[in-house]
This record gives sequence, structure tokens and C-alpha cells, in this order.
Amino acid sequence: MFREVVLGLGGNPVVEGMVKRYGMQLGAARFVAGSTLPEAIERIREINGRGVMVTLDHLGESVRSEAEAMDAKNSYLAMLDGIHQSGVNANVSLKLTMMGLALNEDLAQRNLDEIVTRAEETGNFVRIDMEDSPYTDVTLRLYDEAYQAHPGHVGVVLQAYLYRTMDDLRRLSNPPRNFRIVKGAYMEPVSVAFPSKADVDENYLQLVQESLKLGNYTAIGTHDEQLIGRILKFLHEENIERDRFEFQMLYGVKFSLLESLAREGYRTRVYVPYGEDWYAYYVRRIAERPANLLFFARALVDR
Ligand code: FAD
Repeated sequence: MFREVVLGLGGNPVVEGMVKRYGMQLGAARFVAGSTLPEAIERIREINGRGVMVTLDHLGESVRSEAEAMDAKNSYLAMLDGIHQSGVNANVSLKLTMMGLALNEDLAQRNLDEIVTRAEETGNFVRIDMEDSPYTDVTLRLYDEAYQAHPGHVGVVLQAYLYRTMDDLRRLSNPPRNFRIVKGAYMEPVSVAFPSKADVDENYLQLVQESLKLGNYTAIGTHDEQLIGRILKFLHEENIERDRFEFQMLYGVKFSLLESLAREGYRTRVYVPYGEDWYAYYVRRIAERPANLLFFARALVDR
């Protein structure tokens, strides 16, 4: 219920105006690693120094013009170059709506191809984030085309809250690929997504297990300690080698847990967003955890 209300309010222009005005001081900074690429690279260096890799995200989604989509593409080319030149250990994560998907599929496809080509040239990797369900089919299609052209340099996200995901996973796993599995962050109707958290959690576990059994490199994107415990048990019982998976968490959430997994010798990566366009991202982080709203409200009262 909380989640639906917050995600619903996220679309309200009055709330948006207020949060945009004060949001950085009111808590968004906890989830966002600066506004410029040099700031983000400095942050990556510190995180790498603690034994954790990074996936870098330039905030923004659903651009409104072709020019904005080109700017977004150029920002990702600059990120890949910046990562290459600075020698930090990071790949990139992007959203296809930021590349123009809602305007024109060909535009998004061309932008994606240019970015993945640059990733291939610089020995790097692009993760395509998964957005809300109207984009699932087209995202998987564009991912698959990019994969055929640049295998080894592109992967996609699969969401455990969608009923369809186990079928997608099996269909796309031949030959084995690279997936990030998450629970899913958008407001979805019951016609496409499990409404109950217990069902999402159970499906999450099944998907991670199946992905590993199918031979995929699997990025386990969750902060759920109970699930992580069950997954560690499975990894141990099945003797899965540690170079076949990694744990991923969001910047600002449970970093000490990720660090302790890194200290135990597991591959770990933190999702680091930077940039000015943080509003939609921040609203999803609040929706995930009621306490984040209290944190936000307290900051408002303390002003
Ligand atoms: P939950 O059951 O939601 O949370 C478990 C516990 O983790 C909570 O009790 C709380 O203690 C802590 N926690 C979780 N979220 C927060 C938070 N925001 N602030 C503070 N504590 C928190 N979703 C997509 O739809 N598409 C994507 O492409 C995508 N990429 C992601 C990439 C990464 C690396 C990660 C970690 C998540 C991504 N997500 C994505 C978000 C994901 O779908 C979930 O919304 C989010 O991870 C919360 O689910 P959870 O697995 O942590 O479990």
C-alpha cells in the first residue's frame, strides 16, 4: 500500500516541484554520488578501494526529444571513456527510455549500439536496466540484438515480480549470458506481476537458482538479507564457483553488508547513480522502504 501511494505521488507535479526544490538537502544525496562525471569517478575510486566494483548510471529516463536522447548517448560514451582513462573498476548501467525508446525504437537501438560498441572497444560492459512492463518486450528485443552483435559486452535486468520472467530467462539463456536479477521497482498491475512480497521473494530465489543452473553469469541485485542467506546456502551446496556470480546493491543502501561479502571473497558491485535528474530514481528508493520517507520528513522539519 505504502509503495503504491509513493509511486503514485511520484507522478504528481506539485509533489514533484517540492521534492525537486529541496530533495538534495532532504536525502537524495544519500542515494546519488554527485552531479558530474569527475565527482562520480572520485566516488568510484573510494568504493573500489574498499574491495567493491561499481556500475555507473547517469540519472535520467524518458527523454522528450531526439536531441536529449543524443545528449544521453554522448554522456554514456564519455562515461566509458572516463572509466577507461581513469582505470577505475566500473561498468555502466543505462535505461533505454533515456536513449529515446519512448520516441522511436530505431533511435534507441542506434544509440545502444554505439554505446555497446564503445564498451567493446574499451573492454567494458553495458547493463540495460529494466523499466516498467510496457517496455519489457522491446527492452529484451533490443538487448538481444545488441547481444548478437557484441556478445560479452552487454547484459540485461530481469524482474522477479513479473510472471513472465522465468520464461524469458529460459528463452534467453542459450547460449548462457549475463543477467542481473532484481525484484522490480515499478508499480505494476496484478495482471502482469505478483502482488504479494512472499511470491516475489520465492520467484527471486527460483530465478537466481535457475539462472546459475543454466550457466549464466548472474548478478544478484538485492539487499534482502534473508534471501541472500538462502542464496549463499544454495551456492555452497551446489559448489558454484565464485567467478560465476556477483552480489549487487544500490548506492546508499546496506553498503556494510556488501563490503562484508567482499571481505569474504565474493565479487560485489554497487550501483552508483550520478547527475542532476535524480527525482524519479529517488521516489522509487522511498517507495522501497517507509523509513526513507521518515528520514525525508525529519529533514524537512529540521530545516
Ligand atoms: P526488499 O524486500 O525490498 O528489501 C529488503 C531490505 O533491504 C529492506 O527491508 C530494507 O532493509 C533494505 N532496502 C531495500 N530497499 C531499500 C532502500 N531503497 N532504502 C533503504 N533500504 C532498503 N529495479 C528495476 O525494476 N529495474 C532495474 O533495472 C533495477 N536495477 C537494480 C540494480 C541493483 C544493483 C539493485 C540492488 C536493485 C535494482 N532494482 C531495479 C531495484 C529492485 O527492483 C528493488 O526495488 C530493490 O532492490 C529493493 O528490493 P530488495 O531486493 O532489496 O528487497
